[in-house]
Amino acid sequence: MIADKLTVIREDIKRYSPYPDRVRIVAVSKKQPIEKMRSAVEAGIKDLGENRIQDALDKFSLEAFDGITRHFIGYLQSNKANKCLQNFNWLHSLQTEKLAKLIAKSDYRIKCLIEVNISGEANKSGLPPDELPDFLKKVRDYEGLEIQGLMGMAAFTDDKSRIRRSFALLRSLAEEYKTLETDHFKMDELSMGMTHDYRIALEEGATFLRIGTGIFGPRSMN
Ligand SMILES: *Cc1c(COP(=O)(O)O)cnc(C)c1O
Repeated sequence: MIADKLTVIREDIKRYSPYPDRVRIVAVSKKQPIEKMRSAVEAGIKDLGENRIQDALDKFSLEAFDGITRHFIGYLQSNKANKCLQNFNWLHSLQTEKLAKLIAKSDYRIKCLIEVNISGEANKSGLPPDELPDFLKKVRDYEGLEIQGLMGMAAFTDDKSRIRRSFALLRSLAEEYKTLETDHFKMDELSMGMTHDYRIALEEGATFLRIGTGIFGPRSMN
């Protein structure tokens, strides 16, 4: 079942992405049982995404998940930052200078994506696009902070052209700020596309898809 779903997603990557070899599937396992996570790994998943530190640590400690690349995709509070740095390989939701400084000073290395609010909805997380230039110019000088690209979420809507505009915006921002690149500041990765909109994200150049229910089925309620 999970293997079949992954087969379809992999075919979609070949069909819709301009550079299929660069695309990775982050299987979002928040509120999913261990058994399903194991099945995904058996079916070739190399990247798992979680949005709560403690839930993730409980599950990731199992041997079955040794060697899996771990992505933190939720909002990260500063007081949980160290736990995140110690246990995850990627952070998709960097959006404050405070956190950027903390990461830069830490002995643990984590690859970071800056979350941008591309949905146009005021209550959504991420930096507003117009605050991005100042933020980037500041954090690019932080030695020890490894920026790899941008992350964004489109509005939850059936309006495909609106979703596409959001993803195109993220891509154009990454292209624009490629001029600022240094050895520890890259604009190579675009984390965009979830279960309901990943095909559009692929067409617009996503390199990380974050897919949960489309792989594992519905999440548990607790
Ligand atoms: C839960 C979550 C996803 C996965 O959503 P699905 O609709 O289940 O694919 C992706 N990104 C973020 C940031 C999430 O919190």
